Amino acid sequence: MSGNRLPGLFCLRVKVFYLVLKLLEALNLVDREEPEKRVVAAVNRRILKSGFKSRPEGLLLLLPHCLQFHGCPHRVTFAIDNCRKCGQCPIGGLSALSTELGVSVGIATGGTLARRLLRERNPEIVLAVACPRDLGQGVLDALPVPVLGVTNLRPHGDCFDTEVPLDEVRDMILRVMSDERGFSRAVSPQGFPEV
Ligand code: SF4
Repeated sequence: MSGNRLPGLFCLRVKVFYLVLKLLEALNLVDREEPEKRVVAAVNRRILKSGFKSRPEGLLLLLPHCLQFHGCPHRVTFAIDNCRKCGQCPIGGLSALSTELGVSVGIATGGTLARRLLRERNPEIVLAVACPRDLGQGVLDALPVPVLGVTNLRPHGDCFDTEVPLDEVRDMILRVMSDERGFSRAVSPQGFPEV
């Protein structure tokens, strides 16, 4: 069992913060998806500020299935190694990144599978990629497990051939990864709001 868990009081504050923002969203006083974006930013900041670190093997890179090119014939959901790294979608680069850094990968087709991956692998820290709404709800669902979030890009619309900047994923992993000698990389929580 990992020692990296967010404190109960912080989790409660985030949940209340989210409910208030959802109320404001329903009243059209904040933009759509703003509550989820703020929750992700707040949890990101807390994880980085708390100095949470994980060994590479304790890190889970959790990806949405919509990153895969819609016409790809290879089934990568349960085995990313089936990817041929043809360059047509971000899965190839993310697979190479996970091999290079030694972190594990899970590809989820929905919230149920994502929760199952968290239960089975019991990660120290999760780096999740998803659209703002799924990401925010997933981060809340997973509490007190620390889930860092990176939002995917949707140039072709929701849930279809989405993209993610590899540099952003790499940078976020390196911020929380400690190597086997206990050396921890520099942490900068700047840019994320406090809750
Ligand atoms: S990079 Fe991998 S998952 Fe993406 S289209 Fe090519 S073989 Fe399929």
